[in-house]
Amino acid sequence: MTHDVVLIPGDGIGPEITSAMRRVVEATGVQINWNVQDAGAGVMGEYGTPLPEHVLEAVRATKVAIKGPITTPVGTGFRSVNVALRKEFDLYACVRPCLSQPGDGSRYRDVDLVIVRENTEDLYAGIEFDEGSPEVVELNKLVEASGQKPFAADSAISIKPISIARSRRIVEYAFEYARRCGRKKVTCVHKANIMKATDGLYLRIAREVAERYPDIEFNDKIVDATCMGLVQEPHDFDVLVCLNLYGDIVSDLCAGLVGGLGMAPGANIGADVAIFEPTHGSAPDIAGKDIANPTAEILSAAMLLDHLGETDAAERIRAAVRATLAEGSQVTGDVQRALTGSAEGVVGTQEYADAVISHLA
Ligand code: NAD
Repeated sequence: MTHDVVLIPGDGIGPEITSAMRRVVEATGVQINWNVQDAGAGVMGEYGTPLPEHVLEAVRATKVAIKGPITTPVGTGFRSVNVALRKEFDLYACVRPCLSQPGDGSRYRDVDLVIVRENTEDLYAGIEFDEGSPEVVELNKLVEASGQKPFAADSAISIKPISIARSRRIVEYAFEYARRCGRKKVTCVHKANIMKATDGLYLRIAREVAERYPDIEFNDKIVDATCMGLVQEPHDFDVLVCLNLYGDIVSDLCAGLVGGLGMAPGANIGADVAIFEPTHGSAPDIAGKDIANPTAEILSAAMLLDHLGETDAAERIRAAVRATLAEGSQVTGDVQRALTGSAEGVVGTQEYADAVISHLA
């Protein structure tokens, strides 16, 4: 059977790592009809938007896509294409497994946890008002009218919406995932001691949902204590269900526990559409040099293959990555530097992909 999949190479290191990923997937023998689509700053000139309608149309048709990272201008310019895709297809659950591999260069061993990040609301909702705008003045009037101290007149404001329905569906997703994957515990990550309205609501709903899953252990932890706990004893964690912004930050922290950003895959899942992508960004500092680690993109493809029902091929890819890293003689610079402090004898992105292919059973 041939699967139709949209491939968005992205920018920065995206084209290099997606090309490596594609070769590894093709070497498994799974038949994929890749519908390659460009998005990001590179298409702005031609289409006047970083996310043209025909790209959305292609994803709507296939219902499944894999992408490389796409650069978002900092502070000004267009909003994140990655966030826009998640919003457009209501990809509410971001699933990011963090699993130690032999030879991954990390100081930690046997880390095996999964972050389930809410992907559609929180400070990522994109409702923001610039300093000096009339909306800021109006909001300040509202604050004063509610009997609270007004904020500084030269403030910019980002709004943090957290809803009952979306809190419920992400926590339910985390519990269902835990059940399906034989996981034992779900930890709700929040800051409800300070944000009593938003995070407080989220925690209340999480506790309600947890009662329906007596077979799965449940606890909750404040986000700062979670970060310390993850660094001190990551083995205490199993599935972490996080609001959007905490999930973003905790994901990078957890990538650091398993060898770095080059190792951490991910999936954005909605009711109809799923888009797979690594946790990391476009890494402009190393783009175009054939030195990026494509493991996170390759493992994201393994998650895609699971989603397509090609579980044997997915497992063969994971085993080949494990074997390549365990052997340790053909790894990219980020891994080698972590292991030995030197970049001597490392291989490039494509040569590493060749090594993974040679280890495919
Ligand atoms: P980044 O993840 O791109 O890079 C952080 C550090 O990790 C850099 O030193 C980089 O060289 C290194 N790194 C990342 N991926 C690597 C890999 N595969 N192999 C080896 N080293 C790797 O984060 P950033 O620099 O903060 O962001 C760059 C751009 O990416 C920004 O515009 C940001 O908005 C965007 N971004 C996109 C996505 C996405 O497409 N989903 C996600 C995060 C960030």
